[in-house]
Amino acid sequence: GPLKQEDLENLAELGMGNGGSVMKVVHVPTGIIMAKKVVLMDAKPSVRKQILRELHITHSCNSRYIVSSFGAYILEPNICICMEYMDKGSFDGIYKRMGAIPIDMVGMVAANVLEGLVYLYDVHHIIHRDIKPSNILLNSEGEIKLCDFGVSGELINSIANTFVGTSVYMSPERIQGGQYSVESDIWSLGITLIELAHGRFPFYVDDEDDELSSKPNFDNLLGNPKHLESRDTLALPMSPASHRRSRRRSKAELSILELLQQIVREPAPRLTSSEKDEGKFPRAADEFVDACLIKEQKDRRPPADLLKYEWIEKTLTSGVDMKKWAESI
Ligand code: ADP
Ligand code: MG
Repeated sequence: GPLKQEDLENLAELGMGNGGSVMKVVHVPTGIIMAKKVVLMDAKPSVRKQILRELHITHSCNSRYIVSSFGAYILEPNICICMEYMDKGSFDGIYKRMGAIPIDMVGMVAANVLEGLVYLYDVHHIIHRDIKPSNILLNSEGEIKLCDFGVSGELINSIANTFVGTSVYMSPERIQGGQYSVESDIWSLGITLIELAHGRFPFYVDDEDDELSSKPNFDNLLGNPKHLESRDTLALPMSPASHRRSRRRSKAELSILELLQQIVREPAPRLTSSEKDEGKFPRAADEFVDACLIKEQKDRRPPADLLKYEWIEKTLTSGVDMKKWAESI
């Protein structure tokens, strides 16, 4: 039968994103543990119904590289999405707890994300749009799966106070408001892999404010007419909420804009970028990450081509024991 709010009992909070919160819940009638995401909505009821219909597509996703869905329902004024619970959490949490991820495991992340992207693109004709460590999940079976993919155009347009896909993982063409495709997900994968292998986000924001040398909070980027001279090149959606918020200005906004401009203007980051990292990673890993971070979209390879790269093939044939590693964390 359909999922009902009354049948779900909260067990723990798993995390807060900018679109809502995620709870570990038990579906009492069946005893199944699920992750329930509550998305704060900013849409008309008719739009919400459309979103629900689109979310049912996720129901038809059947891949070991994609977090499966149990269904979704409306809980005014929110939408609740129930998905497979991944007991080791997301890779941002994992590296923040244990530090840089061993390169063999990073290779497994790359291989599994590529497989997931190929599946979404070939079978469902969708691009993910939000590849980042917090949307790559691990369970104690050693399985690595993608969640939060851009299945619903309506959902993307109506999530309150946020813009899905406007993030520091965005490719240069997306920052510039251009057409984007599955190759844009590949850029985000490249940034993600460097972040996991180094145990920190690869871009710096130069600012005296300590908070800013870590990853900037994109909520601060909400349209600021004064600082956003480059508004036309940035293609930032403006919701009524962001208008309200834009009156509160902070230094952070300018710094984040500078970061986005840096991504567009400067050479792409690399896995081995300084002398102190020399020899730390296999050459094939450097080669792969370089291929992900080709700045020109038209020169970047799609996921299926990247699966054939030496680093990925070696990782998949070397028998990396993901289950053993997952159990150790
Ligand atoms: P974000 O992805 O931006 O961090 P989300 O609201 O999508 O924000 O998710 C918040 C957190 O909830 C994630 O960082 C992740 O650690 C956790 N989470 C999300 N989905 C699941 C899931 N299916 N199983 C376990 N943890 C999850
Ligand atoms: Mg997420």
